[in-house]
Amino acid sequence: MFYTMKLSRVNFVVVLFSVAISGCVATNSTQRKAIKDLQKGRVTEDTSYVYALPFEKGTAHLVVQGYYSAYSHKNRAAIDFKMKRGTKITAARGGVVVRLKEDGKRGGLNNKYRQDGNLVVIQHSDGSRAGYWHLQENGVLVNIGDTVQQGQVIGLSGKTGYSALPHLHFLVWNNRSNQWQQVPTRFQTSEGPKYLRPFRKYSNK
Ligand SMILES: [Zn+2]
Repeated sequence: MFYTMKLSRVNFVVVLFSVAISGCVATNSTQRKAIKDLQKGRVTEDTSYVYALPFEKGTAHLVVQGYYSAYSHKNRAAIDFKMKRGTKITAARGGVVVRLKEDGKRGGLNNKYRQDGNLVVIQHSDGSRAGYWHLQENGVLVNIGDTVQQGQVIGLSGKTGYSALPHLHFLVWNNRSNQWQQVPTRFQTSEGPKYLRPFRKYSNK
């Protein structure tokens, strides 16, 4: 919404791509100013945890959809990383595996595929959880109850579920007052801790 005004032709293509992929169910809403800051990658006063990029060191991936984008992340604090099928997904933060699915075979831009998305959910020491979505069939490389370290390979990306093209949908939930809420998180980037922005490529150094 906020960046459509300045679209170059290249970005326009990326936007079309973004429209085509992903999707989940809307939940929360956040203040407009805060959302704008996040979309611009601004970090002000923030002592929150800094996550690692969820892919192997030495690799880089394009963010095709960021926080609260006007497309399928309108009410979501989620990030989409463009990723070829079979790309190794690593834990952005250590924790315990609390949920997984890897028997999904189908994917596409149709509601009938929503239940087919393969996933891993990891619970962190502060009670928050991270979700990694759209993994390929049998692409989960951890088990429920496993303790995983930050940077450990946990799965292989794909395009199962509601997804037109291969990508990783990453999100974090906090549990405040017994209510799960999606929250934006900072990532360690080559330029320091940042909220990630769409149409930028981030490398895990
Ligand atoms: Zn997504």
